[in-house]
Amino acid sequence: MEGSDDVLIVGGGVVGLASALALLETGRRVRVLEAGTAGCGSSHGNCGTITPSHAAPLAAPGAVAKALGWMLTPDAPFYVKPRFDPALWRWMLGFAARSNPRDWKRAMAARAAILQASRDALPEWIARYGLDCEFEPSGVDYVYRDARELERFGAEIDALRALGIAAEVIDGPAYLREEPALREGVAGVVRFPGDARLRPDRYVAGLARALRARGGAIVEQCAVEAIEATGAGVEVRTAQGRFAARDLVLAAGAWSPKVGRALGLRIPVQPGKGYSITYSRPALAPKRPIVLKERSVCVTVWDSGYRLGSTMEFSGYDASLNRRRLDALERGAAEYLHEPVGPRKEEEWYGWRPLAIDDMPLIGRAPGHAHVWLATGHGMLGVSMSAATARLVAELVGGAAPHLDPAPFDPARFA
Ligand SMILES: Cc1cc2nc3c(=O)[nH]c(=O)nc-3n(C[C@H](O)[C@H](O)[C@H](O)COP(=O)(O)OP(=O)(O)OC[C@H]3O[C@@H](n4cnc5c(N)ncnc54)[C@H](O)[C@@H]3O)c2cc1C
Repeated sequence: MEGSDDVLIVGGGVVGLASALALLETGRRVRVLEAGTAGCGSSHGNCGTITPSHAAPLAAPGAVAKALGWMLTPDAPFYVKPRFDPALWRWMLGFAARSNPRDWKRAMAARAAILQASRDALPEWIARYGLDCEFEPSGVDYVYRDARELERFGAEIDALRALGIAAEVIDGPAYLREEPALREGVAGVVRFPGDARLRPDRYVAGLARALRARGGAIVEQCAVEAIEATGAGVEVRTAQGRFAARDLVLAAGAWSPKVGRALGLRIPVQPGKGYSITYSRPALAPKRPIVLKERSVCVTVWDSGYRLGSTMEFSGYDASLNRRRLDALERGAAEYLHEPVGPRKEEEWYGWRPLAIDDMPLIGRAPGHAHVWLATGHGMLGVSMSAATARLVAELVGGAAPHLDPAPFDPARFA
């Protein structure tokens, strides 16, 4: 046995590292087991926006029709690679079944609660751990070139406001006067002043540093190969030997279903592949993060760089960089921005978002396992939800009163 711990965390992404820190704060001894290096997964090259504005789940009324339309459109931000994959088909059917007004509204309220709790906690969390990650309470602007699309978004704005998420609608000409980075032809903009942004790779590196500085352990290049429940706890077999612990938190992002299988768990999560391109900062960059709505491209600007990111591709665990998808990011940005790309390309990247069938994270005890906990399925919002997820994990594992209602995130909903 390589080590016996109090809590083992499987996966050193933003969710695993943040949860490890929160558990450490409650006095637990933690060890993170990471297959690659800390933060090498979806947490690395994402867009770094902190978005209560994204409270509405992907499983929305009309989502299936929209997705089918996109399948026929070259360059569309959504793609399903045709192939024999019963797990994906089951996932698609379950997703379609949840794309109705009642489930949408319920999921939106729960997502808003965890997003807001996380957003509220973030400044203090960043200060406490000294996370040098270019956090800025910048707000995020959704930019529309098509007035009908903006009008269609009206119902969602009302639903967000009803949940306490502030939104301002700005008309196109007024916006162009304050934002010279945009080309003519903006129909209107929805500003979410409560949103924010940070540089995700630095955020995750900061979490790892803070964890180690407080005595937490991170074992890299340590893929978990098997997990066994042993009455009083859990034992795992890894690439670096065996570890035992009283509790185990499975936070392996899009890989969670594979790891969970060892325990007989069926975790309805699919990898939702997205891409990003990072550049040095263009001279005429937008003042705050913007979402180019008709093309679904997110543009994030930091002092240290500039990133275009987006697309939702269901191609299983396919690890290739699709040139067409990457080029579509640049083409989409060129429709809206005078300087769509920066002078120097620094990184082309893909990540697998852990997308749950109802687009809600799974946070809580694994069904049928006294000592196994799940923290996964954060989809498009793992960074945004990280601080509140971590606190909730620590509360649930430690048996403390939770600071937000955990029921909507209970993995037992799929048992
Ligand atoms: C293009 C794109 C843009 C995005 N933009 C945003 C955004 O603006 N805001 C936001 O909030 N979210 C965004 N996201 C989503 C966000 O990146 C994810 O929700 C988040 O990173 C998930 O974190 P995680 O820790 O669950 O998973 P990951 O970061 O993927 O971490 C899982 C870890 O588990 C490890 N692992 C896997 N298998 C094993 C094993 N057997 N043993 C040990 N370790 C294992 C992996 O190596 C990995 O490091 C975006 C995603 C993409 C792809």
